[in-house]
Amino acid sequence: MAPHASFADFLDADDAVNLRCLRAAYPEINTLEKSADGSQWLVFADGRRVLYSEPRVSHERGEDDPFSVDVRASMADIYPLEPYRPPTPPGVSPGRRRSYALLAALYGKDCRDVSRGLCTVLLLGRSVRLACAAAQALEKVGPALAAAARDTPSLAALLNPSGGFMWRNIAGEKRLSPHAFGIALDLSPNFAPYWRWCKQNQHAIVTPHSLQQKYPVAIVEAFEARGFIWGGKWHEYDIMHFEYRPELVCKARVRRWSLPEELPGLDNAGNIE
Ligand SMILES: [Zn+2]
Repeated sequence: MAPHASFADFLDADDAVNLRCLRAAYPEINTLEKSADGSQWLVFADGRRVLYSEPRVSHERGEDDPFSVDVRASMADIYPLEPYRPPTPPGVSPGRRRSYALLAALYGKDCRDVSRGLCTVLLLGRSVRLACAAAQALEKVGPALAAAARDTPSLAALLNPSGGFMWRNIAGEKRLSPHAFGIALDLSPNFAPYWRWCKQNQHAIVTPHSLQQKYPVAIVEAFEARGFIWGGKWHEYDIMHFEYRPELVCKARVRRWSLPEELPGLDNAGNIE
């Protein structure tokens, strides 16, 4: 078999940022290889391969679920970091497109597999079960949330952890929830709704929710600083939902700072070391 091309030979600038952020976020990813058919593959340290991009753009295939995509497409929308909250027209839900092959490779392919890699962390006095990397990141979010609640006691109503790992589908969808991989937790669902719960959205035309703009910056910032994205920035909003996607936070930081292609070292939240 012909040797695979080195990734430096075929990466464009956006792919280079993606790969840099994927490796910073997930150290078990080694490199990217191109196959003879033009598809590109992430290669893990143990030799496993995950599809990074297909030769053709996956959304051209009309029958596919647009929210289940390859890794490159999952990183195409730039997630806006706090305090920036642009309007979220239909189709703008950065982070809501996911590569299920990557999630399975990182966290496990079924409930038993994922369960073996879970850790329990205390957040504001409640225990939350997440994949260990996400749990370690969440542990560092806690003090920032506690400080925010001390400064503004009214925030406490929004800071009630209610769900981490759970092997289930996304409500109203046929695909797995990020909660099934142990990378998401919900805060105060009684105050911070999911779009399908709101009466005005019953025909699947989503009316923006006032909390998408009003939700406290201090809470969202505390999570983003540790590699979590917030579902309030999605068109199909999920205001209670925080999800560990350090590769997206990394890319958002790179884009915000217009860093050159040759990046200095990044930690897993995209901070320059
Ligand atoms: Zn959730």
